[in-house]
Amino acid sequence: MPELAYKIVVGLEVHVQLLTRTKLFCGCSTKFGLPPNSATCPVCLGLPGVLPVMNRKAYELALKAALALNCKVDHFTKWDRKNYYYPDLPKNYQISQYDLPMSHDGWLEINAAADPKKKFVPKRIGIIRAHLEEDAGKLLHDESGRGGISRVDLNRTGTPLLEIVSRPEISSGEEAVAYLQELRLMVRELDVSDCEMQEGSLRCDANVNVHIPAGDSHVATPLVEVKNLNSIRAVERAIKYEADRQFRAFNDPNDAESYQKKFGDVPKATAGWIDERGVTRVQRRKEEASDYRYFPEPDLVPVEVDDAWLKRVQADMGELPAQQRQRLQAQFGLSNYDANVLTSQGRATVAYFEETARLCGDAKAASNWFTNQVLASLNEHKQTIEEFALKPPALAELIALVKAKGLNNQRARDVYQKMLETGSTAGQAIADLGIREISEADLRAIIRKGIADNPKAVADYEKGNLRALDRIKGLVMKETRGMANMEVVQKLLAEELG
Ligand SMILES: [Zn+2]
Repeated sequence: MPELAYKIVVGLEVHVQLLTRTKLFCGCSTKFGLPPNSATCPVCLGLPGVLPVMNRKAYELALKAALALNCKVDHFTKWDRKNYYYPDLPKNYQISQYDLPMSHDGWLEINAAADPKKKFVPKRIGIIRAHLEEDAGKLLHDESGRGGISRVDLNRTGTPLLEIVSRPEISSGEEAVAYLQELRLMVRELDVSDCEMQEGSLRCDANVNVHIPAGDSHVATPLVEVKNLNSIRAVERAIKYEADRQFRAFNDPNDAESYQKKFGDVPKATAGWIDERGVTRVQRRKEEASDYRYFPEPDLVPVEVDDAWLKRVQADMGELPAQQRQRLQAQFGLSNYDANVLTSQGRATVAYFEETARLCGDAKAASNWFTNQVLASLNEHKQTIEEFALKPPALAELIALVKAKGLNNQRARDVYQKMLETGSTAGQAIADLGIREISEADLRAIIRKGIADNPKAVADYEKGNLRALDRIKGLVMKETRGMANMEVVQKLLAEELG
């Protein structure tokens, strides 16, 4: 990565839709894709005289996520009205949490490795707060370009969201990706949300600015909140683009609006990300909290969380990804990288690996088979590990037989493919492929013959030309029809040549 002339500073605001059957304050369905405005009622339409009732399940899912994010959970929290007008908000206010959020001051451990395909380098990103709020509706604009009309679908109005606000401790587009991936993995494992970005159940805004070195200190450009980021890739691209834009604007001597000149009195701004063009466009001054005239929601009682409730939620959480990475290394002796590959695939994969490792007695081999072969098969056939035809006992048998018979990698892969194609056992696949075992004695005899027939190759080798033995190795492979294990051949050859 080239060294930048500035430091990128990013805080992410993520909205996660909670996996409840019904909305946060009424009994309407939260199912995605229902006919427009069919999942609505007087409460979520905000008609006069109705009273909201809190969905306890939503609060419980939020508690789970908050605990997993290492947040402090307060025993007493309340609801507030956030007042603003927008056509997708029929009540003219959103029920949210303002000064007493349900949780705050936590952290999430992410992978900050320069090359995340090689290693997991932990970095803690602080969480300022995680609070509950209800979603607004959705405007559907006529995109024909002929000026048409806009429609509003209020099915989403009142859907429970958990807003997770990170500290500005993310320092690159790559780290933002790592943060979102880790958050998504954890939240999915906890069954708190399905985090489908295309369906809007994971949404992200990025607060971006840059710190430019100046003398002993630095100057910070004004904050821009980038919205409309609907994929993880978009978040990464938008951060890179916006940071570079701010740096160039700051340094532009011809620009009257230059950050450098106006520094200090430029208000926070909101920008939209235009994915097709790969640019951000600054839209408006960002609202301050005082613009929303927050006040306590008079129709809802405050929430009191007792220790018994917290304990129940805690007991139901299971192992979190960060704990799993540690355990796989400690219990199975896996490398940091292998443990991360398995963990990032989810709990079902880890269970698959553990059963295979237990049955074949070789955790390293089980992990290698998973990362080198099984993962490729799953990707190729777009399958989940639950749908995968080869169950742990079958893979464990294959691993054990490969070892016992000294099959080389190519032969082992042939057996694996045969098992996948025919559903046969490893033993049967080996027989079907006509793979025969070559005893060490037989192999030694073949090698001796090769040495005797190639005095020149041996002489060259003895003069220091290591490649000279390739001819003999080739003959051995030919004689054994490619079934000899090269490691064993090397060992025997070295012994024979003293
Ligand atoms: Zn409703």
